Amino acid sequence: MKSILLQSLFWMFVLDKIMGEDSGCLLRGGKCQKDTLYCSGYYVNGMCGSLGSRQCCFNSSTDPISCSNVKIVSRSDWGALPPKSVSYLKPPVGLAFIHHTETRPCKGLESCSKILREIQKYHMRDKGWTDIAYSFLVGEDGNAYEGRGWDRIGSHTKGYNDRSLGFAFIGNYFRHLPPATGLSAVKNLIKCGIENGKITGDYCMYGHRDVGNTTCPGEALYREIRTWPHYNCTDWTPFYLNKARTGKSIRYII
Ligand SMILES: [Zn+2]
Repeated sequence: MKSILLQSLFWMFVLDKIMGEDSGCLLRGGKCQKDTLYCSGYYVNGMCGSLGSRQCCFNSSTDPISCSNVKIVSRSDWGALPPKSVSYLKPPVGLAFIHHTETRPCKGLESCSKILREIQKYHMRDKGWTDIAYSFLVGEDGNAYEGRGWDRIGSHTKGYNDRSLGFAFIGNYFRHLPPATGLSAVKNLIKCGIENGKITGDYCMYGHRDVGNTTCPGEALYREIRTWPHYNCTDWTPFYLNKARTGKSIRYII
């Protein structure tokens, strides 16, 4: 009799623990299940009860915002693979980094989608990342292509991914600039992100090379973004010079 009572208490405790710890997943519209089961979207770690290997399965994109000032092509429209796993940013973030993909450029849905699928495969298979690195990618067609989107931590700027969004121009911009429609697309994306609480209104913008040992986003594009109002918003010496002189990283100046 005593052992039945103890068993009941034990199972009540277990159920309570599972339900309580699942709330983070349930509230975001996901479902907790064993990660060996098929999930039609993607799994997120650490949102379900700690008992067993349970993870939160989301069916599709959880980015709810739409931007009227720029066309965003969804992951399903460019044929993205589901991510291996997902971690979330804490919006609004105060940093934006500009990149180029250093690939051939593209000018339409079909050709851009093909390049995006190649980049995603390269990032996931060769680099071992969980998904395509960038938050958004912009083609020479002026469209924005959804990478990790507004809410998920990317792999674009080492050391800063958990507090920034990464915008990549598809192409190689050492010698020439992306077309005006592409430049406007990134500016409009950031504006939309501010309006929807994803980026702070006083955000700071940098090129990838400002914080990493890389030539990204290419000489011509780097020269262009340094004229944008939020570039190096601290008004300090341009960061790459600062770094060359002092060895200090951006962490110390913002
Ligand atoms: Zn880069």
